[in-house]
Amino acid sequence: MYDFVIIGGGPAGITAGIYAARQKLNTLLITKDFGGQINWKAVNIENYPGFEEISGMDLTKKFENHLKKHNVEIQKEEVRKIEKKENYFLIQTKNGNIFNSKAVLVASGAEHCSLGVSGEKEFLGKGVSYCTVCDAPMFANKNVAVVGGGNAGFEAAITLTKWTKKVYILEKTDQIKADIENQKKAEKTGRVEIITDSQVEEIKGENFVNSLDYFKKNTGEKINLPVEGVFVAIGTRPAIDFVKGLVDLNEKNEIKIDFSNCQSSCPGLFAAGDASSVACKQIIVAAGEGAKAALSAYYYLQK
Ligand SMILES: Cc1cc2nc3c(=O)[nH]c(=O)nc-3n(C[C@H](O)[C@H](O)[C@H](O)COP(=O)(O)OP(=O)(O)OC[C@H]3O[C@@H](n4cnc5c(N)ncnc54)[C@H](O)[C@@H]3O)c2cc1C
Repeated sequence: MYDFVIIGGGPAGITAGIYAARQKLNTLLITKDFGGQINWKAVNIENYPGFEEISGMDLTKKFENHLKKHNVEIQKEEVRKIEKKENYFLIQTKNGNIFNSKAVLVASGAEHCSLGVSGEKEFLGKGVSYCTVCDAPMFANKNVAVVGGGNAGFEAAITLTKWTKKVYILEKTDQIKADIENQKKAEKTGRVEIITDSQVEEIKGENFVNSLDYFKKNTGEKINLPVEGVFVAIGTRPAIDFVKGLVDLNEKNEIKIDFSNCQSSCPGLFAAGDASSVACKQIIVAAGEGAKAALSAYYYLQK
C-alpha cells in the first residue's frame, strides 16, 4: 500500500513527486512519459523562471533528473481505471498491474484533439503527425499542411519552415487566433501560406500521405491540396477518461477542484495542472499546483 500515487509525469506530476518525497510519503509515480505537453513544444520555452530560453526536451530532462534525485518509485505505464475502496484507492494499468494507495493525484494533463476525418488514423506516422519536434526532419524539402490557426499551429509552421519547402496553415474559421508576434514570425519566413475558412475533409495517400481535401466554408468549393505531411494542431482535451464516474467534472471535462488544496469531489483524490479546473494552463501553473496538491495530500494523510 502506497501513501500517495501520482498519475502523470508532466510539470504537475513531477513537482508533486519532489514535494511528496520531501514529506517522506511512500510515493509511486505512474506515467506514460516524462515532460508531457512540454515535449510537443515546437519553439523554445521563454516563460519558465530561471531559464530565459530553453527547449522543451531540455526542460523535461532537467525536471526528470530532479525527480530521480528523490525517493519516488517510478512506473512507466498507462493508468486505465481508478476505484475508490472503503479507505484506499485501487489503480489499474493497461498492462494489468494493480496498485493500492491511501491518496491519489491525477496530473494526467491533456491530450491532442484529433480531426476525426478519414485518413487521419490510417496515415498516423505515415505523414500525419501531432508532434512537430518529433517529426519535422522527416519532411525535408516537402510541402506540408498544419491544421489549426492558433499559437500551436503557427509555432509548428515556423519550426517546419526550417526543413520543408512550403507550409500551408489551414484555419477553419475566418480569423487567425495566433498572437501577432507568431503571425509576424511566420510571415518573415516567406514560406507560410495561410488558408482561412477551410474545413479539412479527408487526408489522402497510398503508402504515405500525398494530399488532403478541404472545402472553403464561405463558398462551398472543394479543393485538393497536394502535401506530403499533415500536422494537426487544433488544441487539447483533458486526459481524464480513467476517473470518469468517480469525480465531478466541469463543462470542459476537467476535474473540478477546490482551488485552495486541489481536492476533488472524491476525498483523498487530488487533481493538478491541465487535468484540473485550474485557470491559466501553463507550465509554471501546473508545477505550482503539483506542489500544492502534494502538500495537501500530506495534510490529508496526517489526519
Ligand atoms: C503546443 C503547446 C505549446 C505550449 N507552450 C507553452 C509555453 O510556452 N509555456 C507554458 O508555460 N506552457 C505552454 N504550454 C502549456 C503547458 O505545456 C501545459 O500547461 C503543461 O504541460 C501542463 O502540465 P501537466 O503536468 O498538467 O500536464 P501534461 O504536460 O499534459 O503532462 C501529463 C502527463 O501525464 C501522462 N499521462 C496522461 N494520461 C496518463 C495515463 N492514463 N496514465 C499514465 N500517465 C498518463 C502523460 O504521459 C504526461 O506525462 C503549451 C502547450 C502546448 C500543447
